Amino acid sequence: MTELGLPSVPPRKVREIGTGVVFEGSGHHFSAAPDVDIAAASAAAKVPLSVIVQVTKRCDFDCSFCSEVLQLPDPTLEELDTVRRNLTGVGRVFLSGGEPLMRKDFHEIVEMYHRDFVLAVPTNATHGLSHAPRIAGKVAFANIGLEGPRATVRRVRGDYDKQMAGVRALMEHGISLSLSAVVYRSTLSVLPFTVQIGDVLNAGKVKLILPLRKGNALNLAEHEFITQDEAESTFQHLRGLRAEHQWSPALRLTTWTPQNEGHMIVIEPNGMARAWPVYDAKDLWEPLGNVLEEPITAIWRRYRFKENHYAKYLGRSIHAVAQGV
Ligand code: SF4
Repeated sequence: MTELGLPSVPPRKVREIGTGVVFEGSGHHFSAAPDVDIAAASAAAKVPLSVIVQVTKRCDFDCSFCSEVLQLPDPTLEELDTVRRNLTGVGRVFLSGGEPLMRKDFHEIVEMYHRDFVLAVPTNATHGLSHAPRIAGKVAFANIGLEGPRATVRRVRGDYDKQMAGVRALMEHGISLSLSAVVYRSTLSVLPFTVQIGDVLNAGKVKLILPLRKGNALNLAEHEFITQDEAESTFQHLRGLRAEHQWSPALRLTTWTPQNEGHMIVIEPNGMARAWPVYDAKDLWEPLGNVLEEPITAIWRRYRFKENHYAKYLGRSIHAVAQGV
């Protein structure tokens, strides 16, 4: 707390990850010197930069683009501890879902993981009020899924006001925020509002993602999927607005190209690690092995998307503008 009794925001740090890569605490992303050879750095790495650990598949929303519609039992704390040990050396862990804050023991998971990894929490924030005090100071940032103003969020995601109550609670406890928005053709016109909201929330970054054809997104109308050219022109337009309005968040837009295939490593509640998205694989998942049974170093050795992983997380295969640019 400050002398005025206001919550203090933890300092945003740079953290060395290895192979020439650092985690930029202010923009919530990785960076490396421009001359770093991505192919060589990823080939030399022994572990991923970042993994996504699903602590539950449950969620209180049913977003129109959600890919996570099949359920599995939650992992126990003991299983999560085994996963933690087997992830030794990984730079950043997303404690994800489903909606991770649905777990009443979420603070115990944060307690278990926060000394070993840069921790990030992708969340819809609806349970932010009850969790914020217990995870404050231990997570690098919460990544809030929010598609802009109230009417749009209600149409494509869920209860905007419940989300914003949780967002305010996270902020009041000094938890740094980023925003993620899934982009439809029908939401293109609200994207400037989304970035403005990110600026008001002092978000480290605003991340825009195109929907993937899985789960609920299989029911989306075809016209909601924009083309690569539209994504490019949308990003350039937002980049111009960002400069004009002096918005501060870093801006990122990920599209689904061969260079981004399989770049994420997602660990399901049963420990199964999968490359995501693999375009011609069943449900876009490629199984890699089980982190309850073997260390991530063994899984990384046979992971065929190392270069895509590095290129994406270093902002080389996506549209990206860093903070302060
Ligand atoms: S996208 Fe996230 S918030 Fe929405 S239903 Fe799926 S898990 Fe829940």
